[in-house]
Amino acid sequence: MEKLHIFNAGPCLLPQVAIDNTIEALKDFKGTGVSLISISHRTKGWDEVMDECRALWKELLNIPDTHEVVFLGGGATMEFLYVAMNYLEKKAGYLDTGVWANKAYKEAKALGDAICVASSKDKNYSYIPKGYEIPTDLDYFHITTNNTIYGTEIREDIDCPVPLIADMSSDILTRKVDVSKYALIYGGAQKNAGPAGVAFAIIEKASLGKVTRHIPSMLDYRNHIDKLSMFNTPPVFPIFVMNETLKWLKSVGGIDAIHDINVAKAESLYAEIDRNSLFVGTAVKEDRSIMNVCFVMAEGKEALQDEFLEFAKSRNIVGIKGHRSVGGFRASIYNACTQEDVDALIACMQEFEKMHQ
Ligand SMILES: *Cc1c(COP(=O)(O)O)cnc(C)c1O
Repeated sequence: MEKLHIFNAGPCLLPQVAIDNTIEALKDFKGTGVSLISISHRTKGWDEVMDECRALWKELLNIPDTHEVVFLGGGATMEFLYVAMNYLEKKAGYLDTGVWANKAYKEAKALGDAICVASSKDKNYSYIPKGYEIPTDLDYFHITTNNTIYGTEIREDIDCPVPLIADMSSDILTRKVDVSKYALIYGGAQKNAGPAGVAFAIIEKASLGKVTRHIPSMLDYRNHIDKLSMFNTPPVFPIFVMNETLKWLKSVGGIDAIHDINVAKAESLYAEIDRNSLFVGTAVKEDRSIMNVCFVMAEGKEALQDEFLEFAKSRNIVGIKGHRSVGGFRASIYNACTQEDVDALIACMQEFEKMHQ
């Protein structure tokens, strides 16, 4: 089979070495003679995977001792609820930057008082709100750093007068983060950290225990910290793949190295979108994401949309259809996507332009 260039938004492309090592472990986990998906999570070799995975998170993101990382089931969506359960006492503030930010906000509103501090809904979330003031009486302020559907990104760690909580599902492990600025960073693994089926939380330990509500034990972050992510049976398979993905990330030079590659990929693709007469980007330039590149057909060229998708397919390019709420195209260029993949897309756009001159 010919090599495909995969731009899926998530679950997405993972590094080939992580997939290959997982296939081996599925046949025989660490020479035990038992498949990875048949071992007990109390097997001795499993502790080592958990320890290694935790250590890699800490090393790659430079997580300080004040924080702990845990692995959970339920995805980022379950963590929308964890956030409200563990942190909402009187009032929470949310930055409305799209569908995911809204879903997080709704979970908090169902549990207590939550306010929308600022929104970019007026222009279909094509920018990141600026110049807003964060009220100082909030229990926390919640942001979504990368807006996977719209291709906007908050690429700096903002200053915040109250505990800062961030959904980093689609840009964790892609840039350096000052973890000490956050009470909580969370997300699903399936964009940059691994396959679907596991979520992560990087938690400032001292930020917990401040609410008076009864927290169901499974939704209490403290239990997952205390039990080292084995409060109940952990999702063994996705954690294994996540560990292999982090090992790959370390082998290619870690966060600084991958960030440089990611910026180069994104700049080359945006440059083509801006140059090519058939396409226009949808996010404002200053807020463009380096992970999800969203674009549409230029004015008057809308009728060519389906034809371009077909043409791209013929060039082995898959996964570039935009989210249904935005339309057009979205190329997700996560860590495992290479410059070669991006170059193939750029060449395809150039060829398509020539065909329509
Ligand atoms: C994909 C995504 C989610 C949803 O993650 P699930 O693990 O499917 O719940 C939430 N937030 C952002 C920013 C995402 O990209």
